[in-house]
Amino acid sequence: MKLSPREQEIIKFLCDGFSDKEIAQELSISARTVQTHVTRIVLKLDAKNRTNAVFKYIHLLDAERQNNLSPEKCGICGLYNNHIIQIEQGGQNIEKICPECFSQAMYGLVSKKVKEIVDKMD
Ligand SMILES: [Zn+2]
Repeated sequence: MKLSPREQEIIKFLCDGFSDKEIAQELSISARTVQTHVTRIVLKLDAKNRTNAVFKYIHLLDAERQNNLSPEKCGICGLYNNHIIQIEQGGQNIEKICPECFSQAMYGLVSKKVKEIVDKMD
């Protein structure tokens, strides 16, 4: 079940460690109203309690982020990857490289090109 905008607002405060009282102050609502929202959040996320709800919410966000990622092309192997590492130097993009090629480069297993790129990194 999707959280309402207000519930999302409140769970973000929970993630930041705010108490009900503090949230109530931030949003200019009563602590009781905050509690009602929290109860609904816990139910919607199918959580055991508010701590568990925070945990589940963070995982949900993470999963969403992963889904929204569009894979990028590795400049070395040419394969598409969700976890491309941008290599920059002086604010300029030098190369996009996948974790696979990156770790190979770290061990000096691949082409001179990769090695050169990685060497340019700070
Ligand atoms: Zn690659």
